[in-house]
Amino acid sequence: MSTQELNNALSASKLFTMGAAHGSVSVAGGWGQTAGHGPFTSLYGLGVDQVLEYKVVIADGSLKVANKVSNPDLFWALRGGGGGTFGVVVEATIKAYQDVPITFQEFWINTTTGANNPELFDAYSYLHTQFPSLVSKGVTGYYYLWNGGIDVKMMTTGKDSGEANVRRIWQPIWDKLNASEALNVKMSLLITYPNFKAFFDGRFGPIESMPDMDFKQRLNKRHGPGGDGNEAVPKPEGIVPLDSRLLGAEHFASPNLTQALEQANPAALGVPMGGLQGHLVAGGKVMDPDDDTSVLPAWRKAYVHVIGIKTLGMRGVDSLRRLAPGSGAYANEADPQDTDWKRTFWGSNYVRLSKIKTKYDPEMVFWTTPGVNADLMEARSEGRVCRTATPAVAMARKTAPKNDNTNALKVDFGGTSNPQTEAGDVEGIKPEGGENGL
Ligand SMILES: Cc1cc2nc3c(=O)[nH]c(=O)nc-3n(C[C@H](O)[C@H](O)[C@H](O)COP(=O)(O)OP(=O)(O)OC[C@H]3O[C@@H](n4cnc5c(N)ncnc54)[C@H](O)[C@@H]3O)c2cc1C
Repeated sequence: MSTQELNNALSASKLFTMGAAHGSVSVAGGWGQTAGHGPFTSLYGLGVDQVLEYKVVIADGSLKVANKVSNPDLFWALRGGGGGTFGVVVEATIKAYQDVPITFQEFWINTTTGANNPELFDAYSYLHTQFPSLVSKGVTGYYYLWNGGIDVKMMTTGKDSGEANVRRIWQPIWDKLNASEALNVKMSLLITYPNFKAFFDGRFGPIESMPDMDFKQRLNKRHGPGGDGNEAVPKPEGIVPLDSRLLGAEHFASPNLTQALEQANPAALGVPMGGLQGHLVAGGKVMDPDDDTSVLPAWRKAYVHVIGIKTLGMRGVDSLRRLAPGSGAYANEADPQDTDWKRTFWGSNYVRLSKIKTKYDPEMVFWTTPGVNADLMEARSEGRVCRTATPAVAMARKTAPKNDNTNALKVDFGGTSNPQTEAGDVEGIKPEGGENGL
């Protein structure tokens, strides 16, 4: 079941759960077993933090109950070790929360010339320095660096919702940005939804309206989204080559922050349309979990996950690796060929995860890559997955073995983006509705 199918079912009970920012992502698979972020995870915790119990079929075919008292090692591993690794989860018990009103705003920080200038990167960097304080005020959301502008989409919920409160929180930031003659802050949307379902439907479109959802789901995940995602059979467009890093307050305080962000911008790598995706989905409750889980420990110190593009054989966010060498990346939105993949995706939890994997699946019935103990196996050209000939060679590998999916994204990186809106400036907020997608 997808996270939004679950939330739709819960809506009549005035409840909602943590879920992904897309209607097709499943509750207890790759999302809920790797970390799982979403629009409100900084307020309620990651996907792995939501789980109270799994029922899981392990490699020997037996059904295990995994919770804090029954098979606690398996429970710990399933909460962060990655999907497709420890068994097939057939049931999960997760936390639900009382529905809340949600205020959504979108504003743009544009350059006055429409082209990149140093002030744009200063503004992008300045936004990051504000995130710890914003999260403490209940703000969460997404922000995108394009050529000539930054698109900021943020939410507040419950007692922090309401348009007046949003103005109160953001006005000093808008004033500071508008003080630069090179920048112009434009608000395009400020709207309050009564509950989670109304928010999700308003921002992403109701998933009931997506025909043949299951089929699309599978194709989208395997090949990347096709077209606008609303056609009955999506056009496979290939795997998007991402590269990413989790960043926290210590990185925002670095004198190298602005330069590192600017260098991670895909435009600096020859991708004219630019495009750095920032997810402000951590901090807050993600930093203060109720339980010990196997999720990458860097999540517990992070505020944002910044995602760039890996292109032309270059590592897209190397500058962020230099900025945050001890951090890591979310395995579900990262470069699968990261050269330090065990540490990048699982950090200090990898060794214990590897032992638990060996205990529950010594014959490697379940294999996913990058995944725990993935290097014990390899995908052969004839389409079989076999034990790596010599374990010593396997362990010495720098990158995780490749899988058999060679359908890389074929994309024209030319052209421009920054679809700047025509909406009013921040003094004259003009509520509008109907746009789909965060
Ligand atoms: C359009 C889109 C939007 C996304 N948005 C977000 C987002 O907002 N937040 C976020 O955190 N991530 C997001 N992601 C990334 C997402 O978390 C990963 O793609 C994740 O792997 C999806 O998990 P799934 O179970 O839905 O997918 P699948 O492709 O079905 O599975 C992924 C892996 O988990 C395994 N698996 C699936 N089900 C089970 C099960 N029941 N038991 C054991 N293993 C299982 C599979 O074998 C596979 O290895 C997004 C991805 C896409 C394509």
